[in-house]
Amino acid sequence: MPILEKISQSSQARHWTDSIPLEFHYTAGVAGEEFRRELKKTGMFLASECSKCKNSYIPARMFCPSCFIEMKETRTLEGPGYVYSYTTVNRNRTGEPNGPVTIAMIRFEGAKGGIVHKLEVSEPGSVTFGMKVVPILKEAAERTGALTDILAFRPA
Ligand SMILES: [Zn+2]
Repeated sequence: MPILEKISQSSQARHWTDSIPLEFHYTAGVAGEEFRRELKKTGMFLASECSKCKNSYIPARMFCPSCFIEMKETRTLEGPGYVYSYTTVNRNRTGEPNGPVTIAMIRFEGAKGGIVHKLEVSEPGSVTFGMKVVPILKEAAERTGALTDILAFRPA
């Protein structure tokens, strides 16, 4: 509908408050959905393996970023992860005092990529780079196939 009114005074301007009913659905993608299903079902992390360069990637992904070919092989990761990087925060997203909460980038031997998640430690100062960690998972019946199925990681 074209705007036919022309205003010459800013005081003539009017506005309406309304909303447009839109809904969004996102998926984790083919490999991401497989990763989530594995996490829900077995509580294990699924990695993709490239048949050409033999690299593994976590979380599972569809294409090798080095070879640009589809990765059809997957495997679950055995053994603990390790702290690659971490930070401790004392405020929540709105700036209110909260915590301390330690967030870490967890990587796994023999796999590229990793998982960023909470790290449950008694003292933030006790975290070290390379520290072995294992996930604390929700009970199998409560898992939904989301990263929040992992409550946190803790020292192994
Ligand atoms: Zn590759």
